[in-house]
Amino acid sequence: QRPVPSDIVISRSCVPKPIDCLASEIGLLSYEVELYGKTKAKVQLETIDRLRAQADGKYVVVTGITPTPLGEGKSTTTIGLVQALGAHLNRNVFACVRQPSQGPTFGIKGGAAGGGYSQVIPMEEFNLHLTGDIHAITAANNLVAAAIDARMFHEATQSDKALFNRLVPLSGGQRKFSPVQINRLKKLGIEKTDPSTLTEEEITRFARLDIDPESITWQRVLDTNDRFLRKITVGQSPTEKGHTRTAQFDITVASEIMAVLALTSSMEDMRQRLAKMVVATSRSGVPITTEDLGVCGALTVLMKDAIKPNLMQTLEGNPVFVHAGPFANIAHGNSSILADKIALKLVGPDGFVVTEAGFGADIGMEKFFNIKCRYSGLRPHVVVLVATVRALKMHGGGPTVTAGMPLPKEYTEENLELVEKGCSNLRKQVENAKHFGVPVVVAVNAFKTDSEAELQLICKLAKEAGAFDAVPCTHWADGGAGAVELGKAVQKAAEAPSKFSFLYDIELPVVDKIRIIAQKIYGADDIELLPDAQHKVDLYTKQGFGNLPICMAKTHLSLSHDAEKKGVPTGFVLPIRDIRASVGAGFLYPLVGTMPTIPGLPTRPCFYDIDLDPLTGEVIGLF
Ligand code: ADP
Repeated sequence: QRPVPSDIVISRSCVPKPIDCLASEIGLLSYEVELYGKTKAKVQLETIDRLRAQADGKYVVVTGITPTPLGEGKSTTTIGLVQALGAHLNRNVFACVRQPSQGPTFGIKGGAAGGGYSQVIPMEEFNLHLTGDIHAITAANNLVAAAIDARMFHEATQSDKALFNRLVPLSGGQRKFSPVQINRLKKLGIEKTDPSTLTEEEITRFARLDIDPESITWQRVLDTNDRFLRKITVGQSPTEKGHTRTAQFDITVASEIMAVLALTSSMEDMRQRLAKMVVATSRSGVPITTEDLGVCGALTVLMKDAIKPNLMQTLEGNPVFVHAGPFANIAHGNSSILADKIALKLVGPDGFVVTEAGFGADIGMEKFFNIKCRYSGLRPHVVVLVATVRALKMHGGGPTVTAGMPLPKEYTEENLELVEKGCSNLRKQVENAKHFGVPVVVAVNAFKTDSEAELQLICKLAKEAGAFDAVPCTHWADGGAGAVELGKAVQKAAEAPSKFSFLYDIELPVVDKIRIIAQKIYGADDIELLPDAQHKVDLYTKQGFGNLPICMAKTHLSLSHDAEKKGVPTGFVLPIRDIRASVGAGFLYPLVGTMPTIPGLPTRPCFYDIDLDPLTGEVIGLF
């Protein structure tokens, strides 16, 4: 239809298949599917075991040039490509995408289900609670936060003996350690299982975590853009007897538990990761974990349903897994390994799984390869790099734009010079993808104001930069039919020889790993470690976390650390302000500049438009 109606109007105009029908169409057995209403279902992890002998499908990752406020359309292209491969090229397909946070849905960005005629439906289900995974993460995360403060309070107000007696209470006249407490004893080097045999010194060591309040890295979370929680004081009620401390809230999707969900490979592995999360350091310098707090089993229970991927569908009836949505700056910004793994089995050797990495290729794709693929063991066949005429024009020096204002004419009229200049960014991101030895197909996501000459110029320059192929596509306006050429190019690229390799060896010193990413991917001359960062390199190396992969927390709006610098910035030294550890998720994250971990609301947030139609009971105003 022309003009293309709004996303929610399109989403609403299409009646989704009952999700149990879709599930059986794609080969799921009824006991593997847990229905959440008519349009969503969870898929059990046992599916992987049943299909163990089945060869995997082709694995495609969608990434983009450096993002601009003009939007590139990576999600839209992920869905458009799957619709093309599925409904038009007759392949078994699956799209794997992230679950969006409700923060942006009600804040600035709006929904994230793709757009136009390439969407996941129903988009209001997708963008709102889905099946409650994010709420489960919030609950689990905040249980840890409560456990930390309560434990410090109890340790401060009780004697060693009283503390021990409460931690290991009498039951039937006898004290007995729980399994998690036996693990703690082992960690302390106390080889005993009978509580009555502990010496006084051992009782003290066992009972007191002795958390240094200054060292607490665990924060409370919620899934709302509530900027007034960026800095808070907890413990102000007189019942907490003056045990106040400064703390903060982060948005749920920035929590380590979200990253754990995205990177885990089984229920057992999730339990181990949830147990390894480091929340603070003791006054004597020992890392304190969720296992020390005794909370890891409860966390696994809270997360037991969230670990199952959520099945939905595209506008053209292809299957989609929506699972996990870690922040792409302080976490790795990719959907779950488990969803990709189940999807690869379900599509079979001739099928395609298209998964999306957040932000540009320098961030989401680099982390996709170096973190996600390292943990999953999966090897992608093709990188699809999304670019738009308008975003490349901005990289070429086009004027900055403000959301909601009419676009300057540079973006609405042909300007080959700006496009050509901006293609420097495209060229660099193609090179970045090629560092990993995987063929790159450039998808030029066409807007109605783009000229044919502009689209062709980008394709020509992309191929000169080493892309396997480059094609314009119109899936936003035309659905899967608009991405058939892209689908064909991806099919060919998937057959091309590739030689995957990681960018760095995990065993290299922390600083070397950071330097390799900065120089090879961002184009920095060097890195500079500020004192806090140097201290953490020493601390984490000493604590035995030095061999984790690196998850850079850098602005996505530039290849450099300066969001204003478009195109391909050169001649800069990347400052590393601090380094944090997500030991359970399994990465170190160097902070390049300051990263907001909970966004705020704008003056006119998206929620102004959202309402429930009293006549039909439908959600209105989402976009
Ligand atoms: P990203 O995943 O890169 O953040 P999305 O796929 O979410 O981008 O798209 C961002 C917005 O741009 C969506 O609202 C989508 O409808 C819109 N959009 C994407 N492609 C086009 C296009 N070709 N023409 C018009 N609007 C588009």
